Amino acid sequence: MHVRFWGVRGATPTPVAENLRFGGNTSCVEITTPSGELLIFDAGSGIRGIGQRLVHEAGDKPIHANVFLTHFHWDHIQGLPFFAPLYGPNNSVAFHSGRTGLPLQETLEGQMSQPYFPVDLSQVAAHRTFRELDADELITIGSAEVRPFTLNHPNGASGYRIECGKSVVVYATDFEHGHPDLDQVLQDHARDADILICDTQYTPEEYELHRGWGHSTWLHGTDIAGKAGVKQLVLFHHEPGHNDHTMARIQHEARAEFPQTAAAWEGLTATL
Ligand SMILES: [Zn+2]
Ligand SMILES: [Zn+2]
Repeated sequence: MHVRFWGVRGATPTPVAENLRFGGNTSCVEITTPSGELLIFDAGSGIRGIGQRLVHEAGDKPIHANVFLTHFHWDHIQGLPFFAPLYGPNNSVAFHSGRTGLPLQETLEGQMSQPYFPVDLSQVAAHRTFRELDADELITIGSAEVRPFTLNHPNGASGYRIECGKSVVVYATDFEHGHPDLDQVLQDHARDADILICDTQYTPEEYELHRGWGHSTWLHGTDIAGKAGVKQLVLFHHEPGHNDHTMARIQHEARAEFPQTAAAWEGLTATL
């Protein structure tokens, strides 16, 4: 599997100079399998960059993308209108979400429609499919197996465990720790992952002012990583107000707790 981070910021894009080392685009992570399947996790503003590259590389060939959404908060869907493969008639996009109680197709089409955007999602040229997955329902895409699980977040959210051969990546944003059952669900699904991508929006001090907002801390991320036996922790969904200096400090402090930690930045890649 090849993993690439295209958007690492939480809440809202922050394209300001002091954030650009880690990046200002909202959540979007690309995974490609050895057999060439394309999986995209979340459609924050980072998805625009994937689309540009895909169109450039594909030439006249069709593009097939699988988009897995954690939930429908803006920072996880706002890049969708700017995902260029949607506008190619030879392309297809398969949307997936966990079952959060909101209908996937209607919710996406409701936000990408007039007067919010001049082109309706229901009218774009690419072929589209929509599939809601139950928790722990396994979906196979080429050589990858993807399994959603429930996260503790306002309006609901789903994490995903992605297995391909012997490699495991777990994508777990957005969630708040402290739920008696769902903390264990996350820990179980993160078990022995090669890479755990984890919502660590706040410092422990900031968290005290944001209880109930649906996000966790870097300290809780290092704790889960240790308990679940993961090999590499990736801090993700960075607080918009954390500039590069702050992010470097957080990464340094987190490494003191769990040495194999990196704060995600746009352009970070890993091959498993
Ligand atoms: Zn978010
Ligand atoms: Zn959210």
